[in-house]
Amino acid sequence: MLITIVTLFPEMFPGPLTCSLLGKTLGTLWELKTVNIRDFSDNIWKKVDDTTYGGGAGMVLKPNIVHEALNYALSLYKGLKPAIVYMTPRGKVFNNNIAKTLINNNGIIILCGRYEGIDQRVIDYWKTNNNLMEISIGDYVLFGGEIPAMVLIETCLRFIPGIMHNSESVIDESFSVDLLEYPQYTKPAIWNGNSVPSVLLSGNHLEIAKWRTEQSKQITKEVRPDLWEKYLVSHNK
Ligand code: SAM
Repeated sequence: MLITIVTLFPEMFPGPLTCSLLGKTLGTLWELKTVNIRDFSDNIWKKVDDTTYGGGAGMVLKPNIVHEALNYALSLYKGLKPAIVYMTPRGKVFNNNIAKTLINNNGIIILCGRYEGIDQRVIDYWKTNNNLMEISIGDYVLFGGEIPAMVLIETCLRFIPGIMHNSESVIDESFSVDLLEYPQYTKPAIWNGNSVPSVLLSGNHLEIAKWRTEQSKQITKEVRPDLWEKYLVSHNK
């Protein structure tokens, strides 16, 4: 799985992606490359942006420069077709299902915006010709697409066989069945005067499973009524 980041800040990568399991498998189960948008600047000042047509605050990344950077990133896949993603608050909100779809491609190219964003014409071109997907990590605005790209990478890589030691974790965790996960406990059995729920010490796996499902439902209902509605619909309740 080759992941290529098209960015103005390649020095941000691999950054936190070198920690723990992702770091250990970087170079074997997945590979990371960066393409610096600035290398494709069309002027001696290495400028990549310009003012917004129609007026307004901020600068916009120029289409010709981003187009060249994306073409170069695509050439790294030697004729294969990777998924191409533009991180943007205007995109579809990211979730596990999108992550699972993305890893079924021959790698992923992730375009990170900065400033006010990227000229719409280059986005439209890559949507039409290369199925570029616009993806948001949530309803808030960051300075750039690099941290959203890391969120996307980390989520996708959890679904790559071999990266997680215990693949059960991915099957059982929050959102896998439109429910949030039940509470988790470890030793000691009594901490600060509080005991672990007795059912978890009973050794009765059927009762434990029932308790966990019930907890998941309660928490989802309380914290995420939108997800709870989805659960009810998908389970015909
Ligand atoms: N003017 C844009 C708007 O209002 O939609 C915001 C631009 S933002 C300051 C600069 C870049 O950060 C975006 O092009 C995008 O790549 C990235 N970005 C910011 N928030 C994001 C989010 N919630 N999800 C994904 N990318 C985001």
